[in-house]
Amino acid sequence: MPTVPPVTVLSAAFVAEARDVTQMPAGGPPEVAIAGRSNVGKSTLLNRIAGRRSLARVSKTPGRTRGLVLFDLEVRWRDATHEKQGLRLVDLPGYGYAQVSHAERRAWQVLVEGYVKQQGALKLVLVLVDARRELGAEERQLMEWLQVMHVPCHLVITKADKLGAAERGILRERVRKENAAAGASVSLVSGATGEGVDALWSRIGHALGVRKDDATAGSR
Ligand code: GDP
Repeated sequence: MPTVPPVTVLSAAFVAEARDVTQMPAGGPPEVAIAGRSNVGKSTLLNRIAGRRSLARVSKTPGRTRGLVLFDLEVRWRDATHEKQGLRLVDLPGYGYAQVSHAERRAWQVLVEGYVKQQGALKLVLVLVDARRELGAEERQLMEWLQVMHVPCHLVITKADKLGAAERGILRERVRKENAAAGASVSLVSGATGEGVDALWSRIGHALGVRKDDATAGSR
């Protein structure tokens, strides 16, 4: 049954790239950060969330060290009481490149930890993992650390279109069980097809304090 999307993206624009936390623009809308190893499908999903084709670059040559990339969205939730809302997506630099040095890995950690510690505006971190890969040490450490920092975290399994129906059910159940202790919610998405993106928006709405009834697809 077709459902009504929980949100309409009115505008989406690149704001800045911050190479360290001091370069983060002061003040601004609530933030949702997106983390994931290189090639997990982060840019593709970000474009899909924003409803734009090429907001984030979809890269086939990963490896460039970069900073925090900020995109500002203006959205309208289905509920009239949340007419328009600003939202900042913070694309964290990818990790897990085979050839990075210890120093680069450390720089990633300093940047991301510095950002999370400093940002009162951060409402949710989406941790992406490829449906065809296991959750790695990097993801586990990040999720555990976010929990310690009291930052809500949502695990997003990407490239769901690569899985058959049976595989999906098994994967979803396994991941849910594995992450119950860490307190992380889980969703299965495909940036390629858009599957699961409405549910992901609902999760974002929840983190932003949009009433649950308002953010879930339904009657209107
Ligand atoms: P990033 O490095 O995490 O930003 O990943 P990209 O978005 O650049 O995607 C990496 C590769 O995975 C590209 O070849 C994409 O076409 C592919 N990809 C990304 N998302 C999906 C998806 O949902 N399904 C499938 N089948 N491929 C995807």
